[in-house]
Amino acid sequence: MSPLPVADLSSVRTKLLAWYRSARRDLPWRRTRDPYAIWVSEAMLQQTRVETVRGFWTRFLERFPTVESLAAAEEEEVLALWSGLGYYSRARRLLAAARVVAREHSGRFPTTRAAAEALPGVGAYTAGAVLSIAYDLPEALVDGNVTRVFCRFFGLDGDPARNPLKAELTRRARSLVGEADGDAGDWNQALMELGARVCTARAPACPSCPIAPGCAARREGRTAELPQLALPRPAKAVEVDLLLVSRAGRWLFERRGPRGAMAGMLQFPTLERPPPGGAPSGLFRLPPGLLQAGEHLATIRHAITHHRIRARVRRGRSLFQRAPDGLRWLRRAEVSAAGLTGMTRKVLGGGFLER
Ligand code: SF4
Repeated sequence: MSPLPVADLSSVRTKLLAWYRSARRDLPWRRTRDPYAIWVSEAMLQQTRVETVRGFWTRFLERFPTVESLAAAEEEEVLALWSGLGYYSRARRLLAAARVVAREHSGRFPTTRAAAEALPGVGAYTAGAVLSIAYDLPEALVDGNVTRVFCRFFGLDGDPARNPLKAELTRRARSLVGEADGDAGDWNQALMELGARVCTARAPACPSCPIAPGCAARREGRTAELPQLALPRPAKAVEVDLLLVSRAGRWLFERRGPRGAMAGMLQFPTLERPPPGGAPSGLFRLPPGLLQAGEHLATIRHAITHHRIRARVRRGRSLFQRAPDGLRWLRRAEVSAAGLTGMTRKVLGGGFLER
């Protein structure tokens, strides 16, 4: 693999930008240059599909239209608005960062990479995205889509999650965005859009790709083998009993601990059933002896990072008088507004509380 001559790259840039400006999806966060609104969209889009984010982003911006309004919010309300998007640590870090921006940056997202990356939850990708899209600064970003486009277009071998290829991707992204004078935001978005819609992981649409003439993978028939991603870690199977416990018109919920997966969110009390002789996953920590499981209502499946959960939804009975720390009773009307885990929302969707 050898780098393309500068003249060829200039024509690639012109073609890709022209394609992006005529074919880009009309997404609500593309209609604004407000750094805060773009930042929120980038936080939501990590690990989450565009179509899912649309509604969440709109509701979030309606409730928290400025950095200051978010900075003044209670964490519980932010988590409740985020409920259903998953990866709740993103919401918690966004809130923490909004408080820093309100306090130390007069409510405006910083304009330097160093200051941006000093914010909680803002890494190299988010800093590059907000700085280039909102301020048109020549700051690079590399996400999964850019990785795929670069590996194929330049014919890059190796695992893109590790050096030396990881560093090489960043180097190329910086070099290219540095040349996109005044078009940094569109250039970064054009690369990501191409990866999301044309240079897709499976079956890239090379015949309609605006940069196909310069693409090494296409020329060499290697589109299926690039990028050379390491195999994902196999998911661990987890079996749980999820208990629906009611008393005097209220339902029992368990607040997850302050750290780890879904930290701080509410869920139906959940007891893990490790396989005989096997170790528990550590995802569920409700002590035994507080609740008694009863009638089996249904079995649902749910996936969260590296875990495949099979949950038996059961009626349950509390064995205590006063709810111990971590457990609380909620009226049905309070449940929908609470910050609930995705699995809990799935169970609610089954209408079990109404039966
Ligand atoms: S020609 Fe095909 S493989 Fe190459 S960048 Fe375009 S879509 Fe991707």
